[in-house]
Amino acid sequence: MPEKHIIDGQRTREIEPNQGIIVPLDLPEFEILSQCIGADESIEVQVRARKESQACPRCGEESAKVHDTRKRVKRDVTLRGYQVYLIIHKRRFRCATCRKPFTEKDSACGRYKRTTERFRDLIAKQACQRPIAHVAQEVQVGPRFVHDCLSDGRKKEEVVKLLERLSDPDAVKVVSMDMSASFRPAVQAALPKAQIVVDHFHVIQHVMKAFRKVLSSWAHKKEGIVLLHGKQHLFLRAKEDLTEEDTRERAKIGARLPALEKAWQLKEALRTWYATATVADAAQHLDAWIKQVQQEGPDALQKALSPFKNWRQEILAFFQFLPILVSNGFVEGKNNRTKTMMRQAYGYRNRYNLRMRILLGADI
Ligand SMILES: [Zn+2]
Repeated sequence: MPEKHIIDGQRTREIEPNQGIIVPLDLPEFEILSQCIGADESIEVQVRARKESQACPRCGEESAKVHDTRKRVKRDVTLRGYQVYLIIHKRRFRCATCRKPFTEKDSACGRYKRTTERFRDLIAKQACQRPIAHVAQEVQVGPRFVHDCLSDGRKKEEVVKLLERLSDPDAVKVVSMDMSASFRPAVQAALPKAQIVVDHFHVIQHVMKAFRKVLSSWAHKKEGIVLLHGKQHLFLRAKEDLTEEDTRERAKIGARLPALEKAWQLKEALRTWYATATVADAAQHLDAWIKQVQQEGPDALQKALSPFKNWRQEILAFFQFLPILVSNGFVEGKNNRTKTMMRQAYGYRNRYNLRMRILLGADI
């Protein structure tokens, strides 16, 4: 986290109880430690999560052992012209099983957000009725931010509307979605019992986008311009779809451009992971792949790693529900099973038309 997220010792005046009005915080997960009016006439509210322990995102074990505490500043809804900032005393707990620290969840803001969700919702509502520039000026944020709030709010509304039509929300066990941050809170709120799964198609598509950049940059370099002329498809197509001749030709080009070859191998390794990993070993193999990308991969692939952190649990959950998602593989019999699963997992050409597929009452 950048330094600017942390403020220390900026306190000026403590709010005197007799001289101020009391407004409920309305965020039941937090308790207020103190509050004051900052140097710039903004209200700073120091808060801490009430829960004394949190579940480790890796293994699920509850931990109450605080590793460290950091202050995070989040903009909240304005009160009578006063900008409000929550200073969250965010704890990192140490998991005794994994022996690693993890940061506590922040449901009021969401991961990597510098504002509370209700602040963004309010901006979205205002931007529905008034020009974006006016809202931006009034709230003192950038127009881009208002625009993002507006589109997130719309998407969220659509999802909530869709989910409200379900007759028995508790019967929904799995929700498969792409990695749009705006869907996740809506689904979590409407379907608390459902496991969110990010489908392999979206993950591979995301990595392919980065790989395309790598390939195209090599096709423009003097070492690659002739070699890759009219041959890029050999690197883009799935390995198993190449003819023997194509395979040989691709390998020949790869041998001349080792950095591109490495990127191609990493792209294919992710596809193989989807085709072969199981619930038991998926996390371990994913971590090994991430490490390899970090150590040997080109910049574009390294930059594409963030969803593997932000959506890790949802990406790994794919393997938990593999029998449903690739159910054909199971009816075709045991011997064919692995082969069919490979084909299904590799077959990311089966595009899903719906951005969100809800599997009702799926039985595992
Ligand atoms: Zn753990």
